[in-house]
Amino acid sequence: MEKLVSLAKRRGYFFQSSEIYGGIQGVYDFGPLGVALRNNIKRAWWRTMVELRDDVVGIDAGIIMNPRVWEASGHVQNFTDPLVECKKCHQRFRADQVSGPRHQEDGGEFTEARQFNLMFKTFIGPLENSSTQVYLRPETAQGIFVNFANVLNSTRMRPPFGIAQIGKAFRNEITPGNSIFRMREFEQMELEFFVPPADEMTWLDYWKNQRLSWYQSLGIRPERLRLRAHGKDELAHYARGAFDVEYEFPFGWSELEGIAARGDYDLAAHQRASGKDLSYFDDIKRERYLPHVVEPSAGVDRTMLTLLIDAYHEEEVRGEQRVVLKLDRSVAPILVAVLPLSRKEPLTQLAQQVEHQLRPYFRTEYDDTQSIGKRYRRQDEIGTPFAVTVDFESVNDHAATIRSRDDMTQVRVPLASLKDALAERLATEG
Ligand code: ATP
Repeated sequence: MEKLVSLAKRRGYFFQSSEIYGGIQGVYDFGPLGVALRNNIKRAWWRTMVELRDDVVGIDAGIIMNPRVWEASGHVQNFTDPLVECKKCHQRFRADQVSGPRHQEDGGEFTEARQFNLMFKTFIGPLENSSTQVYLRPETAQGIFVNFANVLNSTRMRPPFGIAQIGKAFRNEITPGNSIFRMREFEQMELEFFVPPADEMTWLDYWKNQRLSWYQSLGIRPERLRLRAHGKDELAHYARGAFDVEYEFPFGWSELEGIAARGDYDLAAHQRASGKDLSYFDDIKRERYLPHVVEPSAGVDRTMLTLLIDAYHEEEVRGEQRVVLKLDRSVAPILVAVLPLSRKEPLTQLAQQVEHQLRPYFRTEYDDTQSIGKRYRRQDEIGTPFAVTVDFESVNDHAATIRSRDDMTQVRVPLASLKDALAERLATEG
């Protein structure tokens, strides 16, 4: 984990936020490679969950919502974690994350646990009082529920159908940590899938399998992924069943995504509080009902951390250590690096031409700094599946060498067929 965090910083995947001022706990900034990886994760999710289906549509709701949303949803009352404070050093901890009645470091006694609400508060407009207090959303899901009727009325969607959303969420976690695993500002990818009440458990079963295979489709090792059913004591009172997709992180098996059958809890709560009818009338069966909901709720950041950890390899090559990120082609920030063997003309010009030719088809990068060995090492470390090396021969034979990240083989390919050769190799081995 430490090695990965150091690689992430060194190569520009993620940094502690506001680092030059000492940082701020629980918030991270994403560098050039990080933002590319995140965009690829989000694109892959959206493609699978929305574009390739005919029963899901997307929305993008505001981060700040009418505070009544959070009263109705139960967040104002219940979105809390139990908090204890060490009476000696006044550090605060989540009660379920400490062992025993005393702080291990200094022996200080813990206070009685009290419930601490995780929602960030701010004010809307120029007055700062209780009537203008609003929250930063702690999940994207409620933006979907409150738009259920809008989507039903403005589209041809009918249950079973889903509404998907990707966006930032904020939780004032008592103890953020494990790098980008638990943050105070993070990003979610959520689907609320509305179904006839009798079909809820069938859809829960369907979605838990779909979601597990999505992670596998990103190249994550199947043996490090599992589905874990929630025990009765873990389930929210309204939930009919829930599963977590878990990954075996260096700090143990932990949640990547939660998939829950939520009954009609959310729509019923908003219908009650808003006084607006949120039911659906099935005009074939001639029955009116509040749809039940199955919710797969994933995190961009945890997916990112998982991909990086899972892809991280250290290998010994000819007596030297090689660090390589074996990222799947679907998510690798750069697919093809174009590298002139030296910084001399006409090599650089030809290499730039090659990069421009490939750019419309692949995520490419041109790099002519440092020695070729160092540049290969950098591309290995950031997870680029293929490098194209333009050398002195290239000017005469109009060919270049494709070097593979994983097996380090090199093959010479005519420039004219470079694009096809790369496309084929990315499709089969990238
Ligand atoms: P945990 O038990 O780890 O606090 P949770 O069960 O509260 O998580 P959910 O409310 O189910 O989490 O959120 C759904 C998903 O959102 C999680 O599976 C995770 O990927 C992501 N997520 C939730 N909280 C955080 C956070 N603080 N930092 C990063 N990602 C988060």
